[in-house]
Amino acid sequence: MPKKNRSITINGITVAPGERKVVELPIAKLYTHSHQSIPVHVICSKIDGPRLFISAAVHGDELNGVEIIRRLMTMGTLKRLRGTLIIIPIVNIFGIIQHSRYLPDRRDLNRSFPGSKRGSLAARLAHIFVEQIVSQCDYGIDLHTGAIHRSNLPQVRANLDDPETLLLAEAFAVPVLLNANLRDGSLRQVASEHGVKVLLYEAGEALRFDELSIRAGVRGILSVMRRLKILPPSKPSRKQHLPFVARSSSWERAPESGLLRSVAALGMRIKKGDLLGVISDPSDLFDQKEY
Ligand SMILES: [Zn+2]
Repeated sequence: MPKKNRSITINGITVAPGERKVVELPIAKLYTHSHQSIPVHVICSKIDGPRLFISAAVHGDELNGVEIIRRLMTMGTLKRLRGTLIIIPIVNIFGIIQHSRYLPDRRDLNRSFPGSKRGSLAARLAHIFVEQIVSQCDYGIDLHTGAIHRSNLPQVRANLDDPETLLLAEAFAVPVLLNANLRDGSLRQVASEHGVKVLLYEAGEALRFDELSIRAGVRGILSVMRRLKILPPSKPSRKQHLPFVARSSSWERAPESGLLRSVAALGMRIKKGDLLGVISDPSDLFDQKEY
C-alpha cells in the first residue's frame, strides 16, 4: 500500500490529499488601498511524495515561464501525480503589468530574499513567498529568461556540486548546464538555506514568447518530475544528448565601438580563434574589423 500524502496549509487554507485548489496569497496593500494577492495553484495527491514548487515571472518581464506553466497545468498527466505540486504562474504581479523586471519600489525581487515582515514592498513579498511556499517544499523550479533584446539559449543554472541537484539538472535535458554560484538575495540562495533544491531555467528573452524555449521548458519540467517520481516514468524516448556543463560564465566585450554583425549563432560551439562577428563603422564603408 502506498503511503498516504499529508495535507498542506498555505495562508490558513488547507489542501487535503486528493484536492486541487487555488489559494490566494495576500501581499502588501498598495497606497491606493487596493488589495493584492498572488494566486497559488496547489495539487495535493492522495499518495505521498516530494513537494515541488514551480514559479515564474519573479522578474515581471520574463514571460516564457508563465506560458510554460499554463501548458503544464492543462496536462492530464497531473492526475497521476504523487506528492504535492505548488504552482505560482506569476510571482511579480506588479512587474508584469508594467512590463518591468522590477517591483514598483524599483527593487529586484530576486535580490530581495529572504525579505522581512516590515521591509520594503519587495522585502515583504519575498518574506511571504519564503514563509508560505519555499519553506514548505523539498524542491523548486524557478523559470526565467534573458533580458530585453537579449536571448538566452535554454539552460539550467544550479548548484551542480550537489549530486542530486546535478541529476535533476541533467534530467531537464537542455543544451547547457551552468554551475551558478548562489547570488546574494536570490530565491535560490534562500531556498538552499531551507534545504530546498532549486533549478533555475533560463530561456529566450524578456517580453517575448519563444516557442522553442517554452517547449523545452515544459518537457524539462515533466522530465524532472519523473526523475523525482512525482510523475510515473514514461516510455524510453529518443536518445538524450549530454548537455555541455559550464563551470563558469563570462561576457565577451567588443574591443572597439561600432555596429556588430554576429556570425556565431546562439548555441554554436566555438573554439579559441573562431570568428564571432564583424564590427563596422556605419559611416565608413571600408572600416570593418573581424573578431
Ligand atoms: Zn530573471
